[in-house]
Amino acid sequence: MRYQTGFGGMTEVDSIVPDLTPSDELHKSRPDFMYPMSRPISPAVVAKKAPVVFPHHHGSKFERVPYWQDIPRWKDVTEEQFMSYEWNKNSNIQGKDKLVEFLKDVLPETFPTSADLPNITTRDTFLKDVIAGIDSAPMAIRLTPHILSLINWNRPLDDPMRRQFIPMKSALVANHPKLTLDSLHESLDSPCLGLVHRYPDKVLFLATSVCPLYCRFCTRSYEVGGNTETVTKKRSAKPSKRRWDIIMQYIQDTPAIQDVVISGGDSYYLTPEQLTSIGERLLNIPHIRRFRFATKGLAVTPSRILDPNDPWIDSLINISNLGRKMGKHVAVHTHFNHPNEFSWVTREAAQKLFVNNVTVRNQSVLLKGVNDNVETMGSLIRELADNNIKPYYVYQGDMVKGVEDLRTPLSTILKLETEIRGTIAGFMMPQFVVDLPGGGGKRLAASYQSYDRKTGISTFVAPAVKGRDKENKVYEYFDPLHSLPVVDPLSG
Ligand code: SF4
Repeated sequence: MRYQTGFGGMTEVDSIVPDLTPSDELHKSRPDFMYPMSRPISPAVVAKKAPVVFPHHHGSKFERVPYWQDIPRWKDVTEEQFMSYEWNKNSNIQGKDKLVEFLKDVLPETFPTSADLPNITTRDTFLKDVIAGIDSAPMAIRLTPHILSLINWNRPLDDPMRRQFIPMKSALVANHPKLTLDSLHESLDSPCLGLVHRYPDKVLFLATSVCPLYCRFCTRSYEVGGNTETVTKKRSAKPSKRRWDIIMQYIQDTPAIQDVVISGGDSYYLTPEQLTSIGERLLNIPHIRRFRFATKGLAVTPSRILDPNDPWIDSLINISNLGRKMGKHVAVHTHFNHPNEFSWVTREAAQKLFVNNVTVRNQSVLLKGVNDNVETMGSLIRELADNNIKPYYVYQGDMVKGVEDLRTPLSTILKLETEIRGTIAGFMMPQFVVDLPGGGGKRLAASYQSYDRKTGISTFVAPAVKGRDKENKVYEYFDPLHSLPVVDPLSG
C-alpha cells in the first residue's frame, strides 16, 4: 500500500561521497575482492574448516557473472534488468502455486538425499513435501530472485537458504509444549498498536507488516505476512498514518525514550517518502538520540541499493547524513544467516553503504542445519566483517511454533561463542544472545543462571527490564525435545 504520510518534505543533505564506487575501483582497492575465501584466516578456523558449499553453477559467486541466468525463466535477463528494483519486485515468487511452478522448472528429476529427509529423492516427492509443508507453516511464501538464484538446486535438501525459506513437511518435528506464536510477549509490552516498549530507553516501532521475503522462523509470525492455513495474522503492524501518528505522539510524550528500532515487517517496504518522513520526525524529537531501520533488503535484494532509478537508498543516505550533522546516530540493521547469501551484487551494495557512511549491523539467527557449526558461523562473521557490516547479534532461535526443526539447544550457541572468540578482532565478534521468552529482552547466552542439559531448561534474570514484575522474574528457555539426551529408564 503506497501513500503519502504528510510528515513533511525531504531535506536536502549533500552526500559525503556522492557516487557509487565503480566496481573497477573496488577491485583495484581490494585485490582479493573476487576470492574472499582464499585470504589468510586464523589457524583455529583453518584447522576445522570445511568448504562452504557455493552454488553449483558458478566458479566463484564473487565473479561478476549473471548468476540469475542459470534459472531457466531468467536466462535472458540482462544485468541492467536484474539490477532494477522494479524488475525484482515484479519477479518475486509469492504464494504456493507460484513457488510450485518455479520449482517444476528449476529442479532436476532426481537429487542426492539428505540425513533428515531420507525419502525425498525425486522432483515429485520434493514437490509433494513442499506443498504439505506450506500447508502447515506459520509464514506465507515470498522469495526474491537474488536468493532463488543462489540456492543450489542440484542439492536442494541441504541448501541453507532452502532450509530457511521453503518448508518441507517431512522435516517438521513436534513443537515443544512451551512454544507459542508470540514467544517474546510483544503484544503484552505494547502501549499502542504496533509499538513495543520493553527497555526503559528504547522502543520497537512496527511500521509495516510486510517483507521482501518471508523467513520460516520469523519471531513475529503472529502478524507478519499474509495469513496461512494455520495462522491468521493479527495485523497490528499494517501501515497507517493514523497509527503512526499515535506512535509518534507516544514517543514524543515519553522523554525516557532515546532509541527507536523501525521494523515490522521490513523497512524495505516503506516508500522512500515514508522512510524520509519517519526519519525526519524522529530526528526532530529532542530526546531521540539514535535509531535504526531494520531491513533484510541488503541480504535478499541487494541490487536495490545500487539502482540509480530507485530513490529508497537516497532517502536512507540523506537521513543518515542529516542525523550525523545533528549529532544523532542513524543505522541499518540487516539480517544475513549464511555466507552463501552473499554475491558480487551484495558486496557492491555493502560498499555503497560504506562509502556513504551508513552504519550497517547484522543480526543473525542461529538455525539448525543452516549455520549451527563453527565453520559456517565463522565464515559468515568474516564475510560480514569484510563487507564492513558489523556482526552485532547471533540470536538463539526463539521458542515460536511451527519451526522446531530449525531450533538448536542452548549448548550449541555456547559452543559457537567459545570456539569463534579469538578467531577475529573483538570488535567484530557478535554477541551470542537469547531473547528471553516472556519479554525479558536480550541476554548473553553465557549469562544463564542455571542450565540442566538433561531437561534442556536454562534460566536467566533481567533485572534492568521492568514492568509486570519482570525485574523479579526468572525466565526459562527450553531446548528442543529432539536435542535432549536419551535417558535409559533402567539406569540410576
Ligand atoms: S525479514 Fe524479519 S520480519 Fe520479515 S519474515 Fe524475516 S525475520 Fe520476519
